[in-house]
Amino acid sequence: MGILKGKKGLILGVANNKSIAWGVARAARREGATLGFNYLGDQMEKRVRPLAESLDAEIIAPMNVSDEASMDAFFAKVKEQWGELDFIVHSIAFANKDALRDGFANTSREDFHLALDISAYSFIACAQRAAPMMKEGGSLVTMTYLGGERAIPGYGVMGVAKAALEASTRYLAQDLGERGIRVNSVSAGPIRTLAASAVGDFRKLMEKSARGAMLKRNVTQEEVGNTCVYLLSDLASGVSGEVHYVDAGFHVGAGDPGVSD
Ligand code: NAD
Repeated sequence: MGILKGKKGLILGVANNKSIAWGVARAARREGATLGFNYLGDQMEKRVRPLAESLDAEIIAPMNVSDEASMDAFFAKVKEQWGELDFIVHSIAFANKDALRDGFANTSREDFHLALDISAYSFIACAQRAAPMMKEGGSLVTMTYLGGERAIPGYGVMGVAKAALEASTRYLAQDLGERGIRVNSVSAGPIRTLAASAVGDFRKLMEKSARGAMLKRNVTQEEVGNTCVYLLSDLASGVSGEVHYVDAGFHVGAGDPGVSD
């Protein structure tokens, strides 16, 4: 039993057992999905392979989303092994740490391109390759953050990348809708991960987010995972183009997630 029973999907962006993608992977496997994983380079493989194997992954292969050839090779492997695909979880982002520290107004052209390429364009690039394999329709989910909607100190160019990612979610939903492919973003509250460590004064951000949240706490990878599973499943068959918040209600309150005081 399980709401993803019979579905095959890719979990893109596990770095370690703290990754949000890992929370999604565990929830998806619990609900009966068959999973495939990517890893970024040999260093990551050492951590990702054992995790993926513990969930009986059928595909574990390298993919660097900033490299077209690497993406083609990964999706060719998926096509060869599975032929069809039901879902993708895109949980990938990157920005130069210094670009987040130096003040948004000082963002260089190079840092802007890098952040938007890896954190936003890569979702479109994944959708292009996945859609032809989604013959029965499908579900694409990506991870965003409130910094795409509000100016949050310390988030800088990544906020612009998240705004582009959320807009891409809507345009992909529009283009792929008639093929029965749904596209949604999950806007997670702050969670301590490798990527989060690049954000300036993340500890303070977490404290303020917990204080301002309706539930008076932060969220967990498991909670994000459970929400993603719903969006990946047929239970969300009428939901597309959404930004769905899993932030303990923070965004509806008057709380300031900034770290300036
Ligand atoms: P994480 O560091 O565990 O995951 C980020 C992943 O991106 C890593 O697996 C890394 O290998 C991958 N990645 C980076 N560059 C890549 C490339 N060129 N090719 C392929 N993969 C690449 O951190 P996380 O916090 O789990 O981040 C996952 C997603 O969740 C990101 O989009 C992040 O912005 C988003 N998010 C995080 C938080 C948070 O507080 N942690 C909140 C909201 C949204």
